[in-house]
Amino acid sequence: MKKTDGMESIKGIGSKKATLLKQLGIETIEDFLLYFPFRYEDRATHVPLDEIRTEDKVFSSGRIVSFQTSRPKPKMTITKITVCSELGKEGVITIFNNPYLQKQYSVGDCIQFYGMCQIKGRKILFSSPEIEPFGKNVLMNYIYPIYPLVKGLSNHDMVNAMRTILQSLGELEEVFPESLLQKRSLAPFDFAVRNIHFPHSVSALKSARYRLIYQEFFMLQMHLLNLRNKDETARSFVLKELEQAKSFFDKIPFELTNAQKRVLQEMTEDLKQEKPMQRLVQGDVGSGKTVLAWYATYLTFLNGYQTVLMAPTEVLAKQHYEGAKKLFEGSGVRIVFLSGSISKKKKEEIYQGISDGDYDLVIGTHAVIQEGVHFSKLALAITDEQHRFGVKQRGKLSKQYEISPHILVMTATPIPRTLTLVLQGDLDISIIDELPKGRKQIETYAIEQKKAHMVYGQCIGELQKGRQLYIVCPLVKESEVLDLKSAEELYESLKTGVFSSFRVGLLHGKMKSSEKTEMMRQYQEHEIDVLVSTTVIEVGINVPNATVMIIEDAQRFGLSQLHQLRGRVGRGSDQSYCYLIYRGYDQVALKRMQVMTSTNDGFVIAEKDLEIRGPGEVLGVKQHGIPELKLADFTKHQKVMFASKEDIQELTDKRLVCSEQERKTLGDRVEETFQKKMEHLVMN
Ligand code: ADP
Ligand code: MG
Repeated sequence: MKKTDGMESIKGIGSKKATLLKQLGIETIEDFLLYFPFRYEDRATHVPLDEIRTEDKVFSSGRIVSFQTSRPKPKMTITKITVCSELGKEGVITIFNNPYLQKQYSVGDCIQFYGMCQIKGRKILFSSPEIEPFGKNVLMNYIYPIYPLVKGLSNHDMVNAMRTILQSLGELEEVFPESLLQKRSLAPFDFAVRNIHFPHSVSALKSARYRLIYQEFFMLQMHLLNLRNKDETARSFVLKELEQAKSFFDKIPFELTNAQKRVLQEMTEDLKQEKPMQRLVQGDVGSGKTVLAWYATYLTFLNGYQTVLMAPTEVLAKQHYEGAKKLFEGSGVRIVFLSGSISKKKKEEIYQGISDGDYDLVIGTHAVIQEGVHFSKLALAITDEQHRFGVKQRGKLSKQYEISPHILVMTATPIPRTLTLVLQGDLDISIIDELPKGRKQIETYAIEQKKAHMVYGQCIGELQKGRQLYIVCPLVKESEVLDLKSAEELYESLKTGVFSSFRVGLLHGKMKSSEKTEMMRQYQEHEIDVLVSTTVIEVGINVPNATVMIIEDAQRFGLSQLHQLRGRVGRGSDQSYCYLIYRGYDQVALKRMQVMTSTNDGFVIAEKDLEIRGPGEVLGVKQHGIPELKLADFTKHQKVMFASKEDIQELTDKRLVCSEQERKTLGDRVEETFQKKMEHLVMN
């Protein structure tokens, strides 16, 4: 048996169950070994019938005294087995619909059983426990693993297959160098795997878990470090900090915050280097990331090179385009917009212009990384709100050219602090942890659907003051199943109802691109007071005069999405408001509302999100290239994560000794682990 063998080769699995296992992500024996139980049952502690004092699941035994079978209905049999302990305590086991039991066992046999018990006078009652001959020890007499399952596979199938595999495999190869095992007193890999499935004891389970959690963090961080080191040879254009660049600040009507200044400094320092910048600028919604991107763009332009800026939605890309046009007017920066909705002929022309170097700044959606787009001298690639882009797409921008562009990634999705520390392997991180002066907290309220009309009424005051209002709905078309308010329907009713004396507009994803652009323009220029919209406005949109955000069916949105949506208001110095209109009493949804009404801080929200959902989902595994850690949890096991980080460092600078062979084993192992899982994610 080899670790790479398929699961169908295992006795008791066969092709049908092997297919089911694939649904769990298990194809090979190795996958299976690393498929961990999610809980355990204590079937190790044998409690004699005489000593049972509490009604709980228990592992006990006895000698069969009598059988009694009844048939209350034609298709139902009830078997009662009376057992007796050595000291004469009686137990009564009730089993439904298994008339064969009486053939398997006889009076006088000793059996062991595991199940829920009930104390009834002087007897102990068991209903449908698992039973086996005393001493057989297949179902009990050990700590019993419980695995996540799919329909058609029983836990018993899993346990049997695991046992078969662990019995046939020799000692599992150690991954870590001896020095590391020693330093952290880590259990050997073989011990850890065997004991995570069939723990010899609770303490063995603990050390197995610790070792595997440590290993998950270690492998992930090592992998990220490798990714980064691969880029070590890459070269970029050097972007000098020219005196002329200072004139940029004359173009903007405000002074940068200290946080913005600091991040600007970090960026320009990077851009001066031949080594490509790989920087993530993380700043809460409204913290002013865009202006930094434009400064870097301007610097690139002055140095004679091209910049590309990619945004996740057409609406946002268009906003950036309009903003850049205004900002760079008269400065000589030649700007072009590129998106999927542009005609083929026009696109060809734009492609030509880009490769001829006729444009200094290309702004668009993912259309900017399509085949056909070749920059003549691309020095800076910016992605805005990158959480919508995969690592791969980012990579696509940088790997195409012999001279790599500097990479600037801007995001408001606050990667929680703990994750940030891990991700540092991949990107340098700058944080804008300060909002521009004069910003006020957005007052946030969660309101039940049946009181929504009061909210609309209150908004009239804001509209009369000349402010604008967003109303966001989750779906476009009315859905019979979900009974959610569709944007179209709501738009109709508000336009003719409560907001009839104001100008109401509608924006949704199904509209033509030109219609969307026009609607955004009207809202931006305050030709519209109320914008009813779907989540197309979720990211990045900046209309500082809008002060009210109403989110319909807020229970349907995740925390980071709610925070992003709320971030569309509070972008000027006026007091802003956010109303979360919800229906139903889903506990998790209510918890989210509670978080939203209690804080405006994106970092806090992200940490809460992590708690509620777990890290895999927060990052969007597919989008980010972080495989879900199976046992390791960023919030619970921070110490372990830091420990592994420190050890990687020590191994790298050889403070922690290891042989060439050990180094190679570890390196290969990291590659192997991530090659398969991350094939679709790795930058290339
Ligand atoms: P985000 O970080 O969410 O992308 P933006 O870059 O869109 O935020 O900026 C939000 C708003 O704040 C914009 O209207 C922008 O002009 C303004 N802004 C940015 N920096 C400052 C500053 N230092 N002082 C005042 N307003 C600022
Ligand atoms: Mg933005």
